[in-house]
Amino acid sequence: MLTLQWNVEVPDVMPNGNPIGIDVGISHFAAVSNGKLFPNPRPFISLERKLKLLQQSVSRKVKGSNNRKKAQAKVSKLHERIANVRAYYHWLLAHNLCDWAGMIFAEDLNLKGLARGFLGKHCLDAGWGQFFEVLEQCCRKRGVFFLKVNSKKTSQICSNCLTETGKKDLSERVHSCEHCGYTTLRDVAAAQVVLIRGLAAVGHTGLACFLRVKRLRSP
Ligand SMILES: [Zn+2]
Repeated sequence: MLTLQWNVEVPDVMPNGNPIGIDVGISHFAAVSNGKLFPNPRPFISLERKLKLLQQSVSRKVKGSNNRKKAQAKVSKLHERIANVRAYYHWLLAHNLCDWAGMIFAEDLNLKGLARGFLGKHCLDAGWGQFFEVLEQCCRKRGVFFLKVNSKKTSQICSNCLTETGKKDLSERVHSCEHCGYTTLRDVAAAQVVLIRGLAAVGHTGLACFLRVKRLRSP
């Protein structure tokens, strides 16, 4: 790989255009505040399975043997392929999001903390940290405003009336507000909370947020 450094000032993108919020989760790779859901990349799952089998075959071979080296080389190659597939998916998704947004808000996840916790493997597999880096780069290239916002309690607040609705179990896939009756998918509601926070951060507060969310809700 060849890397060049350039002393060029890239102008910062100003907040403008259609705003969206993004929530990353386990049941979907990403949910968008307008209700769109992106599934976990499927080719990745089969490649992972293949990787596991290859790794097992390495461990069965005698240490230091030629066969083990050969098997190890296959593992490295597959690792590379998985990284490529993942990067391809991340860029594809990032461009897709930039196609219909002028501002993108994402959660500022403490990814390392999350990965160490109970979500462990899922987080690392989904590669959200890597995705957000790609998304940020993509936004800069395409002139889309990108901002990370506080991810605290995004799934515990109603995106319609902003009432705290309490902790949800991971198995609860639907957000249903007892206060205002608003019902939507859990991840979509979280993405809408991210959107509201993002808009507040760039100065669109109060009524503007509500109107935008309301508009996004109606088809
Ligand atoms: Zn509500």
